[in-house]
Amino acid sequence: MSVTPIRKQYLGIKRQYPDVLVFFRLGDFYETFDDDARLVARELSITLTSREMGRGKRVPMAGVPHHALDGYLAKLVNRGYKVAICEQTGDASSARGLVDREVVRVVTPGTVVEPEILDHKKNNYLVSVVQDGPEAGIAYADISTGGFRVTQLPESALAAELERLAPSELLLPESLTPDSTWPEAPVTRANYLTEDLDEAGRIVLEHFGVTSLESFGCEDLPLAVRAAGSLVEYLRETQKSGAQALSSPSTYSLDKRVALDAQTRRNLELFSSAWRNEVEGSLLWVLDKTNTPMGARLLKEWIGQPLFDLEELVRRLESVQSFYSDGITRSKVIKLLSRVGDLERTAIRVQRGIANPKELIALKRGLELAPDTRAAMEEADLKALSWTLDRMPDCSDIANLVSRTLMDDPSTAVGGGGVVREGFDAELDKMRSASSEARGFIANLEREERGKTGIKSLRVGYNKVFGYYVEVSRSQLPQVPDTYIRKQTLVNGERFVTPELKEFEALILGAQEKVEELEQAIYRRLCAQVSESINRIRRLAEGFALLDIFSCFAEVASLYGYIKPDLSEDGVLHITAGRHPVVERVVGDGVFVPNDVNLFPEGRQIMVLTGPNMSGKSTYMRQVALITLLAQIGSFVPAEKAQIGLVDCIFTRVGLQDDLSTGRSTFMIEMLETARILHMATPRSLIILDEIGRGTSTYDGMSIAQAVIEHLHNDPRVAAKTIFATHYHELVKLADTLPRIINCNVTVAEEEGKAVFLHKVEPGGADKSYGIHVAQLAGIPRPVIDRAAQVLEHLENGASPKEGVVPPNTESGPWQMSFFTLPIETSPVLNDLAGLDIGAMTPRDAIVKLYELQEEARKGRASK
Ligand code: ATP
Repeated sequence: MSVTPIRKQYLGIKRQYPDVLVFFRLGDFYETFDDDARLVARELSITLTSREMGRGKRVPMAGVPHHALDGYLAKLVNRGYKVAICEQTGDASSARGLVDREVVRVVTPGTVVEPEILDHKKNNYLVSVVQDGPEAGIAYADISTGGFRVTQLPESALAAELERLAPSELLLPESLTPDSTWPEAPVTRANYLTEDLDEAGRIVLEHFGVTSLESFGCEDLPLAVRAAGSLVEYLRETQKSGAQALSSPSTYSLDKRVALDAQTRRNLELFSSAWRNEVEGSLLWVLDKTNTPMGARLLKEWIGQPLFDLEELVRRLESVQSFYSDGITRSKVIKLLSRVGDLERTAIRVQRGIANPKELIALKRGLELAPDTRAAMEEADLKALSWTLDRMPDCSDIANLVSRTLMDDPSTAVGGGGVVREGFDAELDKMRSASSEARGFIANLEREERGKTGIKSLRVGYNKVFGYYVEVSRSQLPQVPDTYIRKQTLVNGERFVTPELKEFEALILGAQEKVEELEQAIYRRLCAQVSESINRIRRLAEGFALLDIFSCFAEVASLYGYIKPDLSEDGVLHITAGRHPVVERVVGDGVFVPNDVNLFPEGRQIMVLTGPNMSGKSTYMRQVALITLLAQIGSFVPAEKAQIGLVDCIFTRVGLQDDLSTGRSTFMIEMLETARILHMATPRSLIILDEIGRGTSTYDGMSIAQAVIEHLHNDPRVAAKTIFATHYHELVKLADTLPRIINCNVTVAEEEGKAVFLHKVEPGGADKSYGIHVAQLAGIPRPVIDRAAQVLEHLENGASPKEGVVPPNTESGPWQMSFFTLPIETSPVLNDLAGLDIGAMTPRDAIVKLYELQEEARKGRASK
């Protein structure tokens, strides 16, 4: 069956992108066809139509207007689809027959550059992974900022690194199946290159125009190179020239970073609260007082990647100190930063030719703030921050160029004459005034012709088919002069053209076309010129990000009373009056009870922490981990004094969690995580263990808990500083025989038989758990509470839990008897009554209940 040429063209393109939705530009629309159209219509809730594309051949079609593309793209990409944007690349007006079309880029979740789709506070990473036995290679890029980094790491560290990166898209060889411990992300299969080191290296070298991988520091990391080659190739294939936005890869190593496994990242609620999975309630929520998108992204990166690098951390802390001590300069700089905008991402969009004129103006405004910021910093002469000035290159030439070229408030669309500043290009100005003069002439024509001809109904109009015309109503047709040429007959009149009208119309159209051409050329040239300086803009963006993060840390410190920690390379962890950064914000000022910690491997290595439920054990342990982490990202910390020996890993095992997605039981997960910690810890690590061994029987659990503590104490290879919270009070006895164990407990006071939580951590073990008291607070019915107290008393008097606890209570309550002996229709009321614990009710509850019962009883009587 014969198909139209355009259908043939479409099918040819679709064949190259079988797994991708093809958005095919037809005039003002992006159209999809066949199955793509069905899917797109469903996902975007748009109408599915059809179009004849060959004799007798109608194909399903669904389209979106070109100006609304971003919104629709956002929906599809967020749902994990990939979209190939196929543009008209030939000149539609001059082409005879079919216009050329080609795919200019494929938008995938990991390659988005649209501000509408991206979260400006977050990087959007495409992550390429290869694995070979016990080693893996990672290359990741954020094409919206140009950032590109590579590393090689042990396979055992892969899941944690992927968790840190939170990929938007994973690029994997066919042979590599994502592990269940990896974060979830759409997977793209990249078969090419990943096996071939030489080819991968060649691709990377060629792309960046260098001759040796040494320039990137990855010459001895074959897996990193393979991952990088595959990433570059994928970007070249999908982004075409947009792949140029990648900056050269920088190699990083995990050696100087604190290892945080996936579990620890979640337990410490760094980026989202475990409870609601929202930023609110997380560490980021407390710390994020940044004022630029670049600073916000860098903050996220720093929180996710604490350092084990004393020199760099001291530099960061000194920088924060400078801003902390000079509040005036800090607030000046913060004010400037709040106007900077997203220089980094806008620069990339300019380079890719997809930024609109308003974005360029925003970029210019950001660049213009550099000299003032620099001046404010120089004036204050903050020595510790002087290094950041190297990252504040002068970009005023670029800003001036944009200012000279563009109007102050240009329109978003290029070509309509509303973009380039008057006086910038004489030819363009001439054309614009020719066009507006001709428009003025036509606007006057109606009045003039009415005067000349005396035709009152005469009207000048425009439509796409005839262009400009003169319309006269039927009754006045006899007055029409001979010079008018008839064009169209209407029901109520006729339309004419005049030679003069046609002449001016040609002038307008010619001028418009020329304006469009000139304006587009000027804009393209401007974008190209700005792009030439992209590295300078990037550097400035980095400078702003650094000032942003340091002023943010200083601001948080002064708002919330944080202090500068003392860092050292010994193993000391000594915090006076430390606070949990998030809980203290949640409970409100002045409510949080500060606590100390004093651990060091040679003497006080392991703290066994006991205390009732709800007393604050988890808060305390997390607070120790978070203060350590804050110090190791270069932030001040919530404490009165903090001396922190850098840790190489923070491990936490907190709370019981089921992992239904992997089908593992709570206890199994607990043991897997504990095993990991016991294998990986070093004497420089910090371990937080909460309630190990609770997912099994008491004896089993206690035995495991004891063995874990002994192992950490006795094996010098894993002798990490540890806080071990437990409900097994028996474990406090370990301190009698193991010298580096200390016991602490979270204190509780008893007032009139009720527990009052003091949240204070003190030396010594707890002797009571108050679990029944907490159960009562939670609303467990009184009979259950009373019975539990009875059982507890029995156990505390020496009975063993193994003996089946206490003789079971087989006594039936009186209500059960009545249920069988009373007439059935009256029993619900009596049942209810018999079950009441009147002693535990308030007078108000009692009277409400009495009314309820009476109503029930009356209903019963009425229905008899
Ligand atoms: P469980 O054993 O039941 O898990 P827990 O002993 O670990 O309990 P947390 O969850 O740490 O107790 O704390 C319970 C609540 O007590 C917290 O949500 C917080 O509101 C409050 N709290 C904890 N520590 C403090 C503190 N130092 N100052 C003020 N309030 C605190």
